[in-house]
Amino acid sequence: PQSSYKWRRVLLKVSGEALAGDQEQNIDPKVTMAIAREVASVTRLGIEVAIVVGGGNIFRGSSWAGSSGLDRSSADYIGMLATVMNAIFLQATMESIGIPTRVQTAFRMSEVAEPYIRRRAVRHLEKGRVVIFAAGTGNPFFTTDTAAALRCAEINAEVVLKATNVDGVFDDDPRRNPNARLLDTLTYHEVTSKELSVMDMTAITLCQENNIPVVVFNLNKPDNISKAIRGESVGTLIGG
Ligand code: UDP
Repeated sequence: PQSSYKWRRVLLKVSGEALAGDQEQNIDPKVTMAIAREVASVTRLGIEVAIVVGGGNIFRGSSWAGSSGLDRSSADYIGMLATVMNAIFLQATMESIGIPTRVQTAFRMSEVAEPYIRRRAVRHLEKGRVVIFAAGTGNPFFTTDTAAALRCAEINAEVVLKATNVDGVFDDDPRRNPNARLLDTLTYHEVTSKELSVMDMTAITLCQENNIPVVVFNLNKPDNISKAIRGESVGTLIGG
């Protein structure tokens, strides 16, 4: 029912770290509520929103692999389960303010959530529901950034909006260099050749191969999520 906004269907990637906010706990309900409110404001405009959630606030496979005899695949399955916890929390928050939301998992947990079915996900979006994709790609050795790029391509979303705790991509580490500059735009090539820590290589090359632009922005600034979804300029735009 709309056309005056830049994007019709977006893939919002929310990292686990972002969900943690500044809380001691793994999840800050203030953050999930802020996400829910902002997503509600744009779904009312008719923009379709799919979300991929990370799990790094609870468990990151790569940092546990090796310890106590944990092989990488097992560690990664625990990491993927962590994303399901975040997804259910976010779904419950969204539904508490009246946004119809479905969780789809990359591996079956049918008592808890729907399995990922591409056509069904698209149908939910067309009906104005928010779809949260959980359990990453369902495969160890991948990340939820790659899941975001993959789901974006699969459901024909037009952009990956990567919500982080930083304002975007800088030309140097802003924590060490106070003169580091925020970059408005970047090419995929600049990201990969300069090894800028935007996304892992698998994720960024998947975006590049499918011409999916990526916007990296700070979700802690009020209205940034809704601005990003409405296609207003926030953070850093990676493309071309
Ligand atoms: N993971 C995985 N395959 C995937 C996505 C995620 O094995 O397709 C695991 C991996 O162990 C990862 C964890 O899930 O460390 C949490 O995801 P991620 O680190 O991407 O979350 P974020 O950094 O966004 O919080």
